[in-house]
Amino acid sequence: MAVKVPILTYHKISPVDKQSIYPGTFVPPALFEKHLRHLARSGFETMPLVSLFGDSMPAKPIVLTFDDGFQDYSTTAYPALQRYGFNGTVFLVADLLGQQNEWDMKIGDVGYPLMSVDTIRRLHEGGTEFGSHTRTHSRLTSDTDAHQEEEIVDSQTVLERELGFPIETFCYPYGSYNETSVNLARKAGYKFATTCEKGLNDGSEDPLKLKRIAVRHDTSQPVFVYKLWRAFRLGR
Ligand SMILES: [Zn+2]
Repeated sequence: MAVKVPILTYHKISPVDKQSIYPGTFVPPALFEKHLRHLARSGFETMPLVSLFGDSMPAKPIVLTFDDGFQDYSTTAYPALQRYGFNGTVFLVADLLGQQNEWDMKIGDVGYPLMSVDTIRRLHEGGTEFGSHTRTHSRLTSDTDAHQEEEIVDSQTVLERELGFPIETFCYPYGSYNETSVNLARKAGYKFATTCEKGLNDGSEDPLKLKRIAVRHDTSQPVFVYKLWRAFRLGR
């Protein structure tokens, strides 16, 4: 039987900011720690997305993804992951390294710092995997083909130039993509791309349309356990 791989979606590992219009993007640090403890006790081992279905898969693999590249990945998530011998995969917004989540601020959300080039390089040396999340966090299905190309293909060029290491994975912002997006991700040479569709991955799906499991501020410990159970038992 093919191994089934859950890919979890996190954003910020910080206390919920009551001023934010997106409470679901926060997971408080103490709750995150409970998630990690559950994964460790259940025998899960993290792996980089780029190695999915390769030769060096752990017996019970899981991929922990962190969208947008918020600063709290370096200050809070990464140290917690290290305590469990885990690694994360972070998707970066190429034009906004060291800046803020301008795409949210434009529609009235609070600004939060995004990791700088120096921080990203240090974490990369420490085992964190980094992928692209476009140049500006664009909603791709609203973009022209030419703009999609800038966001999907050029973001890889920008990140590789800034960071000095290969960018081999991609994440569609808002889970918004169409066939043009997938074709451009293929053209860029990304090995894998993640969506927001629910479920596990077993290698039979398009590697540029991977499913994930969303983790939010209200994903309490029992809900977290249930979400994983449901994904393995019911496939969603
Ligand atoms: Zn995002």
